[in-house]
Amino acid sequence: MNESGSVVPLVVEDLWKTFPRGDSPVTALRGVNLRVEHGEFIAIMGASGSGKSTLLHAVAGLTNVDSGRVLIDGQDLSELSDARLTRFRREKLGIVFQSFNLIPSLTAEDNIRLPGTSGAELDKHVDQLLERLGMQARRRHKPGALSGGEQQRIAIARALVCDPAILLADEPTGSLDSVTGQEICELLRQLCDEQQRTIVVVTHEPHVAMWADRVVVLRDGENLAEFDTRHINDPQEVASRYQSLLRVEAS
Ligand code: ADP
Ligand code: MG
Repeated sequence: MNESGSVVPLVVEDLWKTFPRGDSPVTALRGVNLRVEHGEFIAIMGASGSGKSTLLHAVAGLTNVDSGRVLIDGQDLSELSDARLTRFRREKLGIVFQSFNLIPSLTAEDNIRLPGTSGAELDKHVDQLLERLGMQARRRHKPGALSGGEQQRIAIARALVCDPAILLADEPTGSLDSVTGQEICELLRQLCDEQQRTIVVVTHEPHVAMWADRVVVLRDGENLAEFDTRHINDPQEVASRYQSLLRVEAS
């Protein structure tokens, strides 16, 4: 619960994760903490290998952790059986990846629907999402006939179809040119502002992080620092704040 008595969508407490990797285990997370309020858009920044994707996968319940807790809407993921976790993840989380991960044989609209689901209610929701994301005219196209930006819009629509508590995205612009990448960031910002979506984006790019409300910086699997980006609209400023944090830590 937060001060106003509502459930906090995401709480991460002292999360640890080591990958065995034969003789040389790698500790990817060393006691990470995170708290994201409803309607907040945060960016997790850090160098390659700093643990960003591992953290996102742990939050998504896609990887087991060694200790610590992930609470989504107040539910501790470790208390769920595998079957319940799968259902919980489907109902509560929308996930967007760098590589879109659409099913090539399905049309855009069928990619948005979950396998095996149907109904008038869902049809209406899919229509609304296609409309909102500007993809109505492309709904019957298969992913191969869509541009990268269009594919990512469909992936975002698919992530939103269950009205998730949190939208998670791992380097969502990593496969896009810079103009298209900015359009996707702007879309995420609008979804946050218009629909009070709670959004967690992992990125190493300042011009992506700039769209968030807050940047959380990881270094070597630990929280290094955070800074507010609500009043920063300049990627250079995000870059210099981020770089100066890393420099202070290194010296
Ligand atoms: P980032 O997303 O910030 O680039 P990752 O979370 O992918 O970082 O990786 C953090 C560390 O954990 C890296 O040293 C990486 O090599 C290691 N790692 C990540 N996934 C695995 C895995 N499945 N097996 C072994 N090591 C891994
Ligand atoms: Mg990564």
